[in-house]
Amino acid sequence: MRHLLIALALLASPVAAAPIVLRPAQVFDGTAMHPGWQVIVDGEKIVAVGPGLTVPTGAAVRDLPGATLMPGMIEGHSHLLLHPYNETPWDTQVLNEPLALRTVRATVAALATLRAGFTTVRDLGTEGAGYADVGLKRAIEQGIVPGPRMIVATRALVATGAYGPRGFEPGVEVPLGAEAVDGPALVTAVRRQIGNGADIVKLYADYRWGPGEPSRPTFTQAEMTAAVEAAHSAGRQVTAHASTPEGMRRAILAGVDAIEHGSDGTAAEFKLMRERGVALCPTLAAGDAIARYRGWNGSDPAPDAVLSDRKSFALARAAGVKMCMGGDVGVYAHGDNAREMVLMSAAGMPNTDVLHAATAGNAASFGLADRGRIAPGLLADLVAVAGDPARDIKAVKDVVLVMKGGVIVE
Ligand SMILES: [Zn+2]
Repeated sequence: MRHLLIALALLASPVAAAPIVLRPAQVFDGTAMHPGWQVIVDGEKIVAVGPGLTVPTGAAVRDLPGATLMPGMIEGHSHLLLHPYNETPWDTQVLNEPLALRTVRATVAALATLRAGFTTVRDLGTEGAGYADVGLKRAIEQGIVPGPRMIVATRALVATGAYGPRGFEPGVEVPLGAEAVDGPALVTAVRRQIGNGADIVKLYADYRWGPGEPSRPTFTQAEMTAAVEAAHSAGRQVTAHASTPEGMRRAILAGVDAIEHGSDGTAAEFKLMRERGVALCPTLAAGDAIARYRGWNGSDPAPDAVLSDRKSFALARAAGVKMCMGGDVGVYAHGDNAREMVLMSAAGMPNTDVLHAATAGNAASFGLADRGRIAPGLLADLVAVAGDPARDIKAVKDVVLVMKGGVIVE
């Protein structure tokens, strides 16, 4: 028996894989395009990048003619535990879908995301699926299912009465899409989420208090400030869902690291964001998808919600706000993450800036020093796409190769 165990252990020990030389038409290193460069990967790391590299002895060479090799993209705002609302409304997913169903479906979403070239996701809330994001992340890390590296928020934190599903007789307890908590208990909840595996804390700075209402602030300044202080002292970033000027303002003053949506932000809030180094995840694709689910065909005139997203995006760019690439994927199909990039480009952002936002920009905003750029010593999370996305951003949808940690994704 003992000999058998030793033999099995030998079989299981990883054989040192040969270095891989990737030879695309050009390399986008996270900032600029470099025609004629190559990249050498050894183990899980990038070991060399540049023109005219010497092929190491025994290395495997992978030619990628006509392709652009980029850092694996980083989705800034996903919900792997949700699926598109035109398949099943959000309320029904939260109220009627069993946790196991949602979790199994999320494994499929994770693979679709990875195959689309997104090797990291910042997953901003399970929307009623408890701490299933932590379990999914562990299953991916353990190699049980394939998927991107995950930064998880677990259950987002909302003020009592300010989230859904709603509309029930007040005596009926229904599962909510987030955890409702207020006052000093908010700090306790921040710590509980972190203890349960949250890498980032998500707060709702504003929301609709009733059906059909516009969004209004939820947490007070004091509540938000205390929550951010508790998260930061535990080494976790905080992001705030905020679309109203006052909600954004409270979140910024509380010290959040990023704001999600920002749809009704004015020049004043964006100026404050730039001064405080707060990033914006504009989620143009979510607004676009929801408008289409309601019957918009994409032609002008666009609905008000789409117009206000475009307007705030332009104001934020004009103010010099650090821009994330994050589309709120889950509202629309996982694997279609590049939809946000196409919309950012269509709204006037230069393509190389969009590519930067989705790679080095997101990595810097989320504190991920080991990825997001192509440089020696960083993780070999890479994606090759056909053509030149600096010319036509839609090229990022035409994925020819994905590598995560030096391993080619099949
Ligand atoms: Zn979201």
